[in-house]
Amino acid sequence: MLLTGKHLTLTKKTEIKKQLGTEITKKIFRKISEKKGGYQYDLAVIGGGSGGLSVSQKAAELGAKVALMDYVEPTLRGSKWGIGGACPNVGCIPKKLLHAAAQSRENLHFSTFYGWDVDPINAKHNWNLMINNVQSYIRSLNWGYKVKLRQKGIDYLNFFARLKSEHEIELVRKGSDDVKLITAENIVIATGGTPIIPQVPGGEHCITSNDLFSLPTPPGKTLILGAAYIGLEAAGVLSGLGFDTSVMVRSKVLRKFDQQMAKMIQNNLARKGVAFLHKSVLKEIKKIQNNNNSKYLVSFQNIENGQEKQAEFDTVLSAIGRRAQTQRMNLEKIGIALDKEGKIAQKNCQSSVKNIYAIGDVSSGSPELTPFAISQGKLLAFRLYGDSTQKTDYSLIPTAVFTPLEYGSAGLSEEEAISTYKLENIEVYHSYFTPLEFALPHFAENECYIKVICNKLENEKILGIHYFGPNAGEIIQGFAASMKCGITKSQLDSTLGIHPTCAENFTNLDVTKRSGKDPKKTGC
Ligand code: FAD
Repeated sequence: MLLTGKHLTLTKKTEIKKQLGTEITKKIFRKISEKKGGYQYDLAVIGGGSGGLSVSQKAAELGAKVALMDYVEPTLRGSKWGIGGACPNVGCIPKKLLHAAAQSRENLHFSTFYGWDVDPINAKHNWNLMINNVQSYIRSLNWGYKVKLRQKGIDYLNFFARLKSEHEIELVRKGSDDVKLITAENIVIATGGTPIIPQVPGGEHCITSNDLFSLPTPPGKTLILGAAYIGLEAAGVLSGLGFDTSVMVRSKVLRKFDQQMAKMIQNNLARKGVAFLHKSVLKEIKKIQNNNNSKYLVSFQNIENGQEKQAEFDTVLSAIGRRAQTQRMNLEKIGIALDKEGKIAQKNCQSSVKNIYAIGDVSSGSPELTPFAISQGKLLAFRLYGDSTQKTDYSLIPTAVFTPLEYGSAGLSEEEAISTYKLENIEVYHSYFTPLEFALPHFAENECYIKVICNKLENEKILGIHYFGPNAGEIIQGFAASMKCGITKSQLDSTLGIHPTCAENFTNLDVTKRSGKDPKKTGC
């Protein structure tokens, strides 16, 4: 029986626990057992997140004897979680669920235009109920991962792991002097990253995304530090749930993304009531007590005019970036080179030490996305224990930003396309549109947008696709597949649209940016 991470009832869990004790004696065919050279394990994986789970499970399926170590360092607030890494515990999954919570409020508003007799203005949101439901879903995922590891015969070791030598790993438990040692022929480091806390007086008062999804009380008036995607998604969620939300931006919003699209996301958030403190840097956070409630007095400075300001918030959320978790692991001592960001330098996942590999967020050049970490892990396992030589493809990685109006893209940004192919060799087709569902409530009229960037030198092969509107992730996924197949603009044009949808707008793009014509859509 293969268990998935779906909700399991308590009785089911007890039943499965019983079965695990007796049933999991499955003999795993171990094609490499003879060449283990006296090591306890063929493969030891440090980090039980998206990458670590992927490589360990695939390697075990291919016959390797595998140990997986996972340890979560509690946050300054004491938040901690189970196996699975950032994605299911403090990343993609709870983030998307909170995004859905915020969108339900908007849908409540829409529903009045479709005849529902509800009162969206006075609707009350129960933060605790939402958090409890999200956390109980996450626990079911943690449980599912553990069951899968046992089913595949992988030894799960809940310890902090550090290297003693190229083949030896020390297992440490916090508060204990007891150090255990295991040995392995190959080692994969998949320790991911962790949010950065600002190094200013009072910086320790910040919460991070590691705390947000299990916060026991509503955050109240919130300041978000940083305008990368994690900060903006949090801003969308919190303002959508009705909290007064501000975002402090030092340089640019979504610095690494297509800047026209970044501006649209920012404008849409601002229209929804998110305040942006531009060109500002944090100076200090002071805790102030107010009738048993903690508040924070935040001092910040405008970097252009030097002006200093102060404002009070209930919560300060740091989203100023993440650093690779490579500390206290003796990596440099045994010769593992790090890049300038502190990530493990790698070529095809191999570090500077031959039998030690790095995958996921901790590996140099990684785009810090779950599917990428999973793919790296799977392909590495096939290369190590299967017949494959297939390497990770770093091109055409699709991604989505789950702000109130979502953004999805695959391929190059307009800036990247211009710098790689030169302005005269690219053609940009674009269109504003209004989703049909938004027409009745007169919502976001002509605010949604599509942009397709083509290479004129190659029969208008599509280099980049950008979409700003509902269900961006779902829509871009399919177009990313077509781009992998080398789709051209004329092939896109000859694809019949599905009417009436948002995605059909990709099939009738006839206005180029170069023409200067109005790209707004009217009518059906
Ligand atoms: P992780 O998942 O971070 O796992 C590493 C594990 O190793 C952790 O459990 C860690 O505690 C453990 N560890 C660290 N050091 C040690 C040690 N010495 N010994 C033992 N264990 C150790 N990606 C998407 O694709 N889509 C999204 O929508 C998305 N949203 C996100 C939202 C947020 C708020 C965040 C923070 C991330 C989001 N991501 C998203 C990114 C995604 O979560 C990561 O890219 C992915 O989890 C990386 O997997 P990983 O295996 O490299 O590391």
